[in-house]
Amino acid sequence: MKKNQRLIAEIKKERTLVLIKPDGVERGLIGEIISRFERAGLRIVGLGIVKPNKNLIDKHYPKTKEWIENLGNNLLKTAEELKLKVDLKKDYGVSNVYELGLKIREWLINFMCSGAVVKIALEGPHAISVVRKLVGKTIPYLAEPGTIRGDYSIDSPLLANLENRPIKNLIHASGNKEEADYELKLWFKKDELID
Ligand code: GDP
Repeated sequence: MKKNQRLIAEIKKERTLVLIKPDGVERGLIGEIISRFERAGLRIVGLGIVKPNKNLIDKHYPKTKEWIENLGNNLLKTAEELKLKVDLKKDYGVSNVYELGLKIREWLINFMCSGAVVKIALEGPHAISVVRKLVGKTIPYLAEPGTIRGDYSIDSPLLANLENRPIKNLIHASGNKEEADYELKLWFKKDELID
C-alpha cells in the first residue's frame, strides 16, 4: 500500500520546462499560453520572466550532430512536400544539412537573447508529453489547429532560413524526461520551485 502511494506521488509529480520565446512575449500571448496549460490541469510550480544571455541559451540547446542535422533537414523535408526545388548551396549558401543546422542554432541563440523569455515549470501526470501535445508540432504550418502553435503561429523553414532567423513558433517545451530534468536545473534554482 505504502509502495503504491509513493508511485502515485511520483506519477503526479512529473515535471517539465516551458519557455515562452521572445515572439510569444512580444505578441502579448503570455496569459493565453499559460491558461492553456492551467486549463489542461497542469500545476505551475515555477514561474519567471528573464532576459537570457548567450551562455544560458548555448547550454540549453543540444550540440549533438544528430540534433543539428535535424534542424537542417526540416528544410529539405518541407521542400520535398511542397515539390519545391531547393539548392542548398545556391539558395542557402551551405554545403550540407549539418552546416545549415549550425547556422540555425546560431540564429536561435541570438533570437532567444533578443528579448524577454517567460520560464514555466509545470507539474502533473505525464506532464512532458501532455505539454508537447498542447504545444503542437515544431513547424507551425504543420501544427494542428487546437494546439498553441497551430492556433497562434504560421511559419516555415523555407522562409525562416532565407530570412536568417529561427522558425517563430512561440514556445519551447522539453522533449523527454532527460531533457526536462536538465532544463529545469538550468533555468530554476532549487528554491525557486514549489514543492
Ligand atoms: P522544438 O523542440 O519543437 O522546439 O524543435 P527543435 O528542438 O527541433 O528546434 C528548436 C527550435 O529551432 C525550434 O523551436 C525552432 O524555433 C527552430 N527551428 C527548428 N527547425 C528549424 C528550421 O528548419 N529552420 C529554422 N530557421 N529554424 C528551425
